[in-house]
Amino acid sequence: MTTVSFEPTEHPHRRRNALTGEWVLVSPHRTKRPWQGQVEKSMAELRPAYDPTCYLCPGNERAGGKRNPQYTNTLVFDNDFSALLPDGPSGAVDDRELFRTEAETGTCRVLCFSPRHDLTIPEMESGDIRRVVDVWAQQVEELGAQPNIHYVQIFENKGAVMGCSNPHPHGQIWANHTVPVEPAKEDAAQHAYLGRHGQPLLIEYLAHELEASERIVVQNRHWVALVPYWAVWPFETLLLPRRHVLALPELTNDERNALADILKHLTTRYDNLFETSFPYSMGWHGQPTDGRRHEHWQLHAHFYPPLLRSATVKKFMVGYEMLAMPQRDITAEQAADRLRQMSEKHYRT
Ligand code: ZN
Repeated sequence: MTTVSFEPTEHPHRRRNALTGEWVLVSPHRTKRPWQGQVEKSMAELRPAYDPTCYLCPGNERAGGKRNPQYTNTLVFDNDFSALLPDGPSGAVDDRELFRTEAETGTCRVLCFSPRHDLTIPEMESGDIRRVVDVWAQQVEELGAQPNIHYVQIFENKGAVMGCSNPHPHGQIWANHTVPVEPAKEDAAQHAYLGRHGQPLLIEYLAHELEASERIVVQNRHWVALVPYWAVWPFETLLLPRRHVLALPELTNDERNALADILKHLTTRYDNLFETSFPYSMGWHGQPTDGRRHEHWQLHAHFYPPLLRSATVKKFMVGYEMLAMPQRDITAEQAADRLRQMSEKHYRT
């Protein structure tokens, strides 16, 4: 009888997400075969630079009758159908254990990345992406300075498959009184890690990743994009600054330019993977904005793309994922390798 030793590139295993404490099941034996995913090219979507029916294009009327200015780079406005409202009574409405209700206040804003209806981040110039970076930082600063705002969540839903109803390049900023569920998990994990090791969790994590280098996708002098060890989505990535940075407003001029560059390079690789405008939800996690410094925090962005094998085949989080735990076949290392091999020249140029 032969004894087989455990080999994580071959045998089913689970990996722990150090940021949340949650686990993912990895089944690499199901992808031992060479990559057979048929890459179906989606029809090139040609959009006009200006769409008279788009409520985000310059000069157009939005729902509720407000009109967009003739903006030339970015535009921020309060969401016309905001999920949060700035004014209202606070406190517990119902504090019973089984029926807990608490009032929540906040602000929801929309950020147009560009006046051009037909562009996305990978197709924008780095200088124009830099303007988006500045608005992100400025919004965290401005909203976070409000006494009732303790967390500012910046995010982008890209593509109809992610529920994005308008292809005009835009993201959102939701700011509210309590720290939401996902950053709260990461806050607890990072706080505990700093207490145990004396170093921020993601600073040590990045050092290990750079040493191993098998999950790195793209890097420059200030930033590293990698497929995290615990990735759930097939081509999930984590974008990290090299320096210890608690929040977007702390980024230097150089770091902001380098961020614009790496955002362009990462999303170009995504688009080139299946030669499609790659859908994803992405967003920033930084320290809470309660006025204190949270030294255990390290700023980072998550990219959660749903596509698995082609422009039309997405991963479903169903059955076992809904009822037990997330599961993936392609390993984080294989995903990083595929993204790394992609050109930084966009397939449409
Ligand atoms: Zn995070």
